[in-house]
Amino acid sequence: MKKEPKKKSTLWPNVKKTWKFLKEGKKYLIFYIIVSILEGILGAIYPIISAKIILHITSGAMSQVLLTAGIVFLLDFLYSISSMFKTKLYNKVYRHVAVNIQTEIAKETLKLEISEVDKASSGVFIDRLNKDTADISGVFMEYTYWLSNIISKLGILYAVFCLNKYMFIYSVVMAGILFFMDKKRLAKQYEVQKIGRELHEKKTSITGELVRGIRDIKVLNASKNILEQTTKRIVDTSNEEMKFISIRAKYQFFKEMIRNICEFLFLFLGCGLYTKGLLSLPNFVIIYHYEWQIETLLMGIAQIMEFNKKFDLVSGRIFEVIEDEKYQKEKFGTTKVEKLTGSIQFKNVVFSYDDNHNILNKMNFEIEPNQKVAFVGKSGAGKSTIFSLITKLYTIKKGSILLDGHKIEDLDESSLRDNMSIITQNPYIFNFSIKENLLLAKKDASLEEIREACKMACIDDYIMSLDDGYDTLVGENGVILSGGQKQRLAIARALLMKTEIILFDEATSALDNETQEEIQRAISNLQGEYTILIVAHRLSTVVDSDKIFVVDNGKIVDSGTHKELLKKSTFYKSLYDKDLNV
Ligand code: ADP
Repeated sequence: MKKEPKKKSTLWPNVKKTWKFLKEGKKYLIFYIIVSILEGILGAIYPIISAKIILHITSGAMSQVLLTAGIVFLLDFLYSISSMFKTKLYNKVYRHVAVNIQTEIAKETLKLEISEVDKASSGVFIDRLNKDTADISGVFMEYTYWLSNIISKLGILYAVFCLNKYMFIYSVVMAGILFFMDKKRLAKQYEVQKIGRELHEKKTSITGELVRGIRDIKVLNASKNILEQTTKRIVDTSNEEMKFISIRAKYQFFKEMIRNICEFLFLFLGCGLYTKGLLSLPNFVIIYHYEWQIETLLMGIAQIMEFNKKFDLVSGRIFEVIEDEKYQKEKFGTTKVEKLTGSIQFKNVVFSYDDNHNILNKMNFEIEPNQKVAFVGKSGAGKSTIFSLITKLYTIKKGSILLDGHKIEDLDESSLRDNMSIITQNPYIFNFSIKENLLLAKKDASLEEIREACKMACIDDYIMSLDDGYDTLVGENGVILSGGQKQRLAIARALLMKTEIILFDEATSALDNETQEEIQRAISNLQGEYTILIVAHRLSTVVDSDKIFVVDNGKIVDSGTHKELLKKSTFYKSLYDKDLNV
């Protein structure tokens, strides 16, 4: 069988990348390292000095015993102070890394191509933001801790070396055996941990959906079904966690056994050396006193290796989101246009969501500034997709989209996004107050400006009728607002942005007539001053458009005013007749 090529470790590059997130926390880390090294040195001196106590006791030098005990007391005191400092410094460094890295992931998540978000589940990003960052934020202190631990253990080893060479050799061999057992365990644990994290992402996704979709779950009476799926993912994740624990427990068991054997052999060897006159009684007592520490001599190294594995896994997952390799980020051009006039052209645009089935098939159309234009057609014809392409949420496969004559991919982010606003079928309203939701569109808007926009969007009266007016909290995704109210709030957001191009994806769900009229009124308020594109799911709402494009199977099959189309397009006429009969 062909051996798989060994994956190049990303450990060191990722440690270097994580280092950058430490930023202002570096000074605390330097203090932490200094205190830890001092602690390590204290730990190394400690056994040598306390061994002296035993020597003094056995030789009956009581004044020396007391003097050495005083030094040990002082060392203990210094140790306690350094531990207290270390905890404080640890928290400071941890917080800096966690805050900086979490902010970066949030920032980079917002830059993701929407197609990447479509493919992955939300848990992928939520877990990496919360769980994985918590795991790597302590990276530098983990390394420092084990470094200090190794320093103190080296002190013990040196003490044993000075006391008896045979016991020293035996100690090194014994520690080596235990170390290799740990190494084997780590390799096994790594694979399980990797699968465990992926399963955990799935669990996070479904539990998130369970909460967000609670209304539909109840109305569909799908609680049992969703619960079954949720339970399955919880069980899968927990099984993987159990596997991890059981590998640990199994190795722990064998390690304990070997340790007991080593201990027995240690005493056996000690007795043998003593009877042969190669080991003195006090030295035997001292070495036996520190025997358990000698056994764990290489544990520090094993722990570092364990942490390396975990860090490699977790940091890899984090940098997948931060960097551009696995999850693609949006790309923009460099052309800057302060104010687009609103001219839009599609030239032979081909687009598919999945690289297989083309949704838009050589689509061509042209829109002039300040026109009100509607796209009509059967459901699934590709109308909303046109909007996703104009806003560059997705990238076209072939052809070109021109905005004011510039290719869409040449424009920079602000030229594109600051010049258009979109009102989707179900606009996302954040769990902030109404005012805060509107300020998302224009950070420094005054209340007068906000109210002006809301008046034009025909929502001001309603907001003012609420007890807390513009300070009313709207709940998650604007739960206290109706579909029509959300759309009007989104229109107000668009008006505050004062973008030349306004894209309006009409709600498919039947809004009541009054709401529909208010939305129509809001749109009429804008007509002539803005380039307005409407995806119309009901034709009656767009009969006054300057131009109507009839979309079918990803192509524009006809265009004209309502009157022209009634005369020349049987397809349009049939759509219109059907609409009247609804
Ligand atoms: P319309 O607005 O005309 O009803 P859409 O543009 O929403 O149609 O959808 C056109 C086609 O693209 C449909 O077949 C739909 O299933 C598919 N589609 C829409 N959005 C996505 C998406 N994010 N991923 C994959 N397919 C999609």
